[in-house]
Parts: sequence; structure tokens; C-alpha cells
Amino acid sequence: MKKFTDFPYSSILVLGLAKSGTAAAQTLLANDKKVIVNDRNAREHDEIVVNLRKMGADVIVGSHPISILDEIEIVVKNPGIPYDNPIAAEAVKRGIPIITEIELAFHLADGPIIAVTGSNGKTTTTTLVTEMLRESDVPVKVAGNIGIVATEAVHDLGENEKLVLELSSFQLQGIEKFKPATAVLLNIFEAHLDYHKTLDNYKQAKFNIFRNQTAQDYLVYNADDASIAKVIHQAKAKLVPFSVSKKLETGAWADDSYIYFNGEKLISRKEIVLVGEHNLENILAAVACGKLNGATNEGIRKVLMTFTGVRHRLQFVGNLNGRLFYNDSKATNILAAQKALSAFRQPIILLAGGLDRGNEFTDLLPFLKNVKTMVVFGQTAGKLKQLAKEAGIQTIIDAENVQDAVEKAYPTSKENDVILLSPACASWDQYRTFEERGDIFVQAVHKLK
Ligand code: ADP
Repeated sequence: MKKFTDFPYSSILVLGLAKSGTAAAQTLLANDKKVIVNDRNAREHDEIVVNLRKMGADVIVGSHPISILDEIEIVVKNPGIPYDNPIAAEAVKRGIPIITEIELAFHLADGPIIAVTGSNGKTTTTTLVTEMLRESDVPVKVAGNIGIVATEAVHDLGENEKLVLELSSFQLQGIEKFKPATAVLLNIFEAHLDYHKTLDNYKQAKFNIFRNQTAQDYLVYNADDASIAKVIHQAKAKLVPFSVSKKLETGAWADDSYIYFNGEKLISRKEIVLVGEHNLENILAAVACGKLNGATNEGIRKVLMTFTGVRHRLQFVGNLNGRLFYNDSKATNILAAQKALSAFRQPIILLAGGLDRGNEFTDLLPFLKNVKTMVVFGQTAGKLKQLAKEAGIQTIIDAENVQDAVEKAYPTSKENDVILLSPACASWDQYRTFEERGDIFVQAVHKLK
């Protein structure tokens, strides 16, 4: 890990403990900075509070006293804390810069950073790039929004080791000099307006990913996204587009049969395991990013021929007697379920239902054309049954839960059918998390064998 060279702050407030705040505080202390930590929900005797104090931090718990801002030059804010938090709001008023620990990781990383952002597809693309580099024997670590704290990942990052970071808009809003050697901008949809307040703020946070890049860096971007197209001329990096809809001279694109990079045919689409048009975008972004960072054609091909998807996101679970099982438990809303349903041309047996948020499901109707059987469970079972009737679906089955749904779906299936869990609802009426719901689906599929 490098020492700070271009980080001119000596007294720092770390706002919000959690995993990233703890790592930030520890790293700053190890770099001889004066650190104040503030967390409203932590308690005096929490192990982490005691430990940070032992290391030399001044830790203030239980409240947010504004006066702590008098002593500091910069705030390292947990990305989850909104800007209307009293300390953050006051810091903005006083012109004190607010960063997230991503900025620290940038200053301390020895190796080049690859940063991936977008409204959707971040985890999938980040995972694909990382795997492509690994398969090509390029040394690589992965961190960020994917669940590994970036400031921790840089501790033992080698000089030639690449760091792939999945970045949310929350993380990107808090940067100053952060500059990835390769940035990937996937797409911009309206999201997180509760946090960013306006769509423009949200977009600006996303566009921070290329703000500090120079002509030595690369920006991989979605050439089909209108919001991105409008701002791309502001970037100083070398532009590397990807597109699912048009042939490109440079960059990554696909026709119905193949995937290409800079005119070279890389892989037949038939050989790719991941399904869904949205995943094709993620694949093209990953291919471009991988090729720019030393991934080999072999490495890329191997990943695309074996990668079954990120867990619970249209993840291919297996083939049982010609039936293809997919776990899309992360589809907790109608939009995500629409995407999953659009991914298949075969007959689908759809397993859906869950928490009732009071919404109707009519927007799902146009996407049910290939659904021949619907198995419903949870609080929304009644509404979904009604929808299935309207869609003219031949077989509608009531199930107790996901396990029961799998057991009832299989006997109705034929060879070449897709059996898809894409609930279009949150899981909390019956399961603690969508992950738990997806795991139960996967177990139930394995039990059929
Ligand atoms: P993120 O990390 O940005 O949340 P994921 O890779 O975890 O994205 O995918 C989450 C869900 O977002 C997927 O199940 C799918 O419904 C949708 N999605 C993924 N990639 C894209 C994309 N490129 N465009 C639109 N939607 C996508």
C-alpha cells in the first residue's frame, strides 16, 4: 500500500462506522492522521469503538454534535448516510469537503483501478471483468459496492495488480481526485432520487467516474444510452464504446450470431451461458474492459462459456431432464421480472409472488406471452392468479411457498421448458431476504434430482 502523497488533510472526521468507516479510520490512523469518528447508533462499549480509541481515534457515539466540525478539514462519509444528515448538511454549508472511502482507496492503491458504475448491471459486469482477468492470469482483486471495502482491498494490492471496483452513485458522489485507469459506464436510469434529490444530481454523481480521467485512461461506455451520449464529449479519456444495436469500428458490439471487439470475432453467442438482452450489454462492457486490461481471447471465452450469472440474478441453476432452471430471486419488482421474462423464447413456467405492496401487476401482462404455467405463492398470490387468468395462461397453480412451488412446477413441465423463479415481489412476507428465497429455490431444484 502506498502512503498518502496528494492528500493534504491532517484532521479528518469519519462519519458512520460500519465496515467501510472502520477501515477508513484504521487506515487514516495508520497514516498518522488525526481522526474523529462519529456514529449515532454505536455504543460506548462496542468492541469497535473501544478498539478505535485504543488506536488513537476520538470516537463520539450516540449523537451528532455539530461542534466536531470545528476541528476537522474533511469528512469521510459512509456512502449510505444521506446529505441531509445534520453533520453532512452543516459540512456542506461550511464548505468542508465530503468524500467516501473510495477516494482514500484511490490515494493508497499501488495498482491501476478499473471502476464500474451504472444504474443496473454493476455486480454482473464487475464479476465478469474480474473473472476474465483471472482466467487470463492477470493479477486482480475486486472490491467496492460488491461487499468488500475498497480501503481494505488496497492494503495488500500489488504494484501490477489491478483493482476492479463496483461503484454506486453514493460512493461516486464523494470523490475529489479519484481517477480510474479504466472506467465503465453501463447505463443511467432514474434511481435513488430520495438520496440525490434530482435526476441531474444522480447523473452528475455517476459521471464523476470519468471526471478526473486524462488522455492516458480509458472510458468504456454504452453507446446506446441517450443520457450518456449527451455528456460523453466532456470526457478526456480514450473512448471505447459498446453497443447491442449497431456495428462499431472500435469497441465491443454484437450481431445476432457473434460478439466482436475492434472488428475481431470473439465468441459465438450460442456458446454464452448468460441469458437476457440486458446481460448482453454487461458482457460487451466486460469484454471491452477485459481486452483493454490484458484479458486474452481464451480467458474471455472460458468465462462466457461457464459463467452462470451472479447469484439470484437470472442465475442458471441447472438442467434437469431438459428443463432449464433459473433463479431470479433478486427480481423484487415488476421491471426486473419483465427483463427476466424477455430473456427466453422457450415456454416458461413462472414462479412468482411475495410481499404485497399494494400495487397491481398489469404491467407484467405484455410479458407473459411465453408463460404456459404460473405457480403463485405469498401475499400477492391472489392478484397474480387474476393476472394469469387475464393473460389466458392455461395452468395456474397455488403453492404454499417457493419449495412447494418447485415441487408442483416440475411435474407439469416438458423437455425444453424454462422453470423460472422471478417473483416480481419482495420476499419479506415469507423470507428474511431475497437471497434466502433464492437459496431455497436452488435447494428445492437440487432435491428434485
Ligand atoms: P447492480 O449491481 O447494478 O444492482 P446486477 O448486476 O446485480 O446490477 O443486476 C441486478 C438486476 O438489474 C438484474 O437482475 C437485472 O434485472 C437488471 N440488470 C442487470 N444488468 C442490466 C442492464 N445492463 N440493463 C438493465 N438492467 C439490468
